[in-house]
Amino acid sequence: MSILDFLFPGLSCLGCRTELNGTKHLCTKCLAELPHNKKPVTLKSPEKQYFHDAFAPFKYLDPIVGVILSLKYGSTSEAAEFLAPHMADALQGISSFKNPRPAGTPFTKGGIFCPENTILVPVPLHKNRQSTRGYNQTLLLAKSISKILGFPVSQSLVRPKQTKIHRNMSARQRTENIRDAFAVTGGEEIANKTVILIDDVFTTGATVNECARTLLHSGVRRIYVLTAAQV
Ligand SMILES: [Zn+2]
Repeated sequence: MSILDFLFPGLSCLGCRTELNGTKHLCTKCLAELPHNKKPVTLKSPEKQYFHDAFAPFKYLDPIVGVILSLKYGSTSEAAEFLAPHMADALQGISSFKNPRPAGTPFTKGGIFCPENTILVPVPLHKNRQSTRGYNQTLLLAKSISKILGFPVSQSLVRPKQTKIHRNMSARQRTENIRDAFAVTGGEEIANKTVILIDDVFTTGATVNECARTLLHSGVRRIYVLTAAQV
């Protein structure tokens, strides 16, 4: 990513950084090579699974790796705006390119997700990491998805415990590292709700599973996980 990406966001492709020429967010080459995910998203450890089901529209391969880096370090909402319609459609299994849905249109999947009792909850960052980065990328995703599906965003889930970075850890080490990292504030906002938990990448699922465990203990009725990509 060059300094120009920060000065003039929207000029270069979020996937490969080449100059955009007529398309939005991604160049035509990257758009043609999007790694759509056809596999179910499941927990990759022997732990008990606390979420009901999980969805991810993309595999964590190029050019989506580049888009996720833009989301994490680009300091703009461009990548979230690109990913959000794909994530929203992953819940429903409909491609946004074939069947665009106007913003705010009521959304249900077999009656599971009702506007009155469904909320979007972004996976929180510890405050030290958030202040280093300047923002939480999962909140950007949640806000963009909220504009499409009409579900409110709740920031009731917080992360009081600072954990080590998961890179190079086994599934079991990740689970141990993340245990008790999360807490809920303002529990009445989420009690008896269906939660769609929003994260950027699903690797082993240890982080979202620990979030789900914490939310269930706080009175949430049911939890679905929605990430942009799965490894
Ligand atoms: Zn590109």
